[in-house]
Amino acid sequence: SEERSLNFIEEIIENDLNSGKYETLITRFPPEPNGYLHIGHAKAICLNFGLSQKYGGYTNLRFDDTNPVTEKTEYVDSQQQDIKWLGFQWKNELYTSDYFQTLHDFAVKLIEKGLAYVDHGTAEEIAALKGTPTEPGKDSPYRSRSTEENLELFAEMKAGKFEDGACTLRAKIDMSSPNMLMRDPIIYRIKHAEHHRTGNTWCIYPMYDFAHGQSDSIESITHSLCTLEYVSHRELYNWFIEMLEIFPSQQYEFARLNLTYTVMSKRKLLQLVNEGVVSGWNDPRMPTISGLRRRGYTPESIREFCERIGIAKRENLIELSLLEFCVREHLNKTANRVMAVLDPIKLVITNYPEGQSEILIGENNPEAEDKGGSREIPFSNELWIEREDFMEEPAKKWFRLAPGAMVRLKNAYIVQCDDFIKDENGNVTEIRCSYFPNSKSGEDTSELHVKGTIHWVSTAHAKTAEVRIYDRLFSVESPDSEEGDFKDYLNSDSVRVIKQAYIEPYLAQADMDSRYQFIRKGYYCLDLESTPEHLVFNQTVGLKDAWAK
Ligand code: ATP
Ligand code: MG
Ligand code: MG
Repeated sequence: SEERSLNFIEEIIENDLNSGKYETLITRFPPEPNGYLHIGHAKAICLNFGLSQKYGGYTNLRFDDTNPVTEKTEYVDSQQQDIKWLGFQWKNELYTSDYFQTLHDFAVKLIEKGLAYVDHGTAEEIAALKGTPTEPGKDSPYRSRSTEENLELFAEMKAGKFEDGACTLRAKIDMSSPNMLMRDPIIYRIKHAEHHRTGNTWCIYPMYDFAHGQSDSIESITHSLCTLEYVSHRELYNWFIEMLEIFPSQQYEFARLNLTYTVMSKRKLLQLVNEGVVSGWNDPRMPTISGLRRRGYTPESIREFCERIGIAKRENLIELSLLEFCVREHLNKTANRVMAVLDPIKLVITNYPEGQSEILIGENNPEAEDKGGSREIPFSNELWIEREDFMEEPAKKWFRLAPGAMVRLKNAYIVQCDDFIKDENGNVTEIRCSYFPNSKSGEDTSELHVKGTIHWVSTAHAKTAEVRIYDRLFSVESPDSEEGDFKDYLNSDSVRVIKQAYIEPYLAQADMDSRYQFIRKGYYCLDLESTPEHLVFNQTVGLKDAWAK
């Protein structure tokens, strides 16, 4: 892609590297393994890995697994697969849970410095004393406990002496700070739950704010990039690092990706999965990386999308059509053209010998430098064409088939419609044509001039396939900002299944990694459920932006 100016994070990094503040850029991508990654994560992945590639540093993959209840190994595995598929490789695979002992020791250090205390208040009691953004909070009755008592109580918390919620460890900062997060935040809570990696070793778990910055610091992360929701957390991030006297990682915030016609939080996507609204995390309508992959998106197109949306400091809403544009552009360059008839009607060529056939040659991709090679296409006197390519009473400027009209059959001959047959209900069932033997594509000497070209498949040679065509998952631009539940705004018509489409025989050898342009119809790929006996294709995207105004 073309040259662009530096974004604000690149400016910061270049300054830091030029001034010698850091020698090597180290970033991290820190997903919580509580769901599958989505296109929003792709933005953070492209940012973090893209920066370290550009500046010759490295990126760690750190699973931010501090909540034993929602995390699963299935998610760890899928997240790794998705990052690799996007084209990135991390330097170290790390887990916040590997730092549980160190984080515990950091907490002890804070207690020893008189900077943390055990609070027996309930969640409600603690909240009641927090104050409001305009009014200072009040000290907890447990705030003035001695260091010895706090050390002992924290040890008892760790040893499992208390039940969930009986007490917490809080940082002792400032109950009248204008930043509510600085009003003695909870840093450890009790949870008697099995953790996906540490099992039952721990029954106390660090809060996000106590884990994240310190984990960055442990790994000597130089630039810790996160989304704007964390702006107010930065003060706390810095406070812990300063009080603990550890490596000064620095946090910078950028605008998260919001995309029209979808939702992006893992919690909400999980709801769609659990309630059966979609077939799974990798349903082709999902904004997850695995859903996009199954839909036929390429890693290149997703990276290009992330590059185009750029990095901003202010929230915005990106059009889904931009993502579609990016994949359409990439597939236009790379996908082989093939013929598939989705809504078939029979066309009989009356002057072509019955029972005879010939092999025609089709160029695979006129947009590719090598034209993508070529393929063989069988032709005969009986073809399937699209029902919509025939009009009994043609509109003005109709260049396709109609009584008396001529059209070119792609890669084949020019035909003229002589007649058509209707059933008792008045539906056209067959179109009868004659062909011009001297009009063969590539060696046409007929001097006939036709404006329209249509696709077709020989009935005797056609294979059948199921074709799934998708629409947006939600019917409104921003389901998150509508009144009521986001699920009230689902598009009830987001998938259309064509049980029996006819495809050219070449497509019987399609593999999972290939993408195709069904000429005049859109871009398609095999679905995960496809078998050689029952081919299933997904539409990735139509040929044109159907939503363009
Ligand atoms: P979700 O609510 O979807 O679970 P999250 O922020 O809780 O999002 P994490 O697994 O913690 O999910 O995210 C890992 C990284 O991805 C974080 O650094 C986070 O800032 C980033 N990220 C998550 N969602 C987006 C988004 N929509 N745009 C850009 N970055 C995102
Ligand atoms: Mg998170
Ligand atoms: Mg989350």
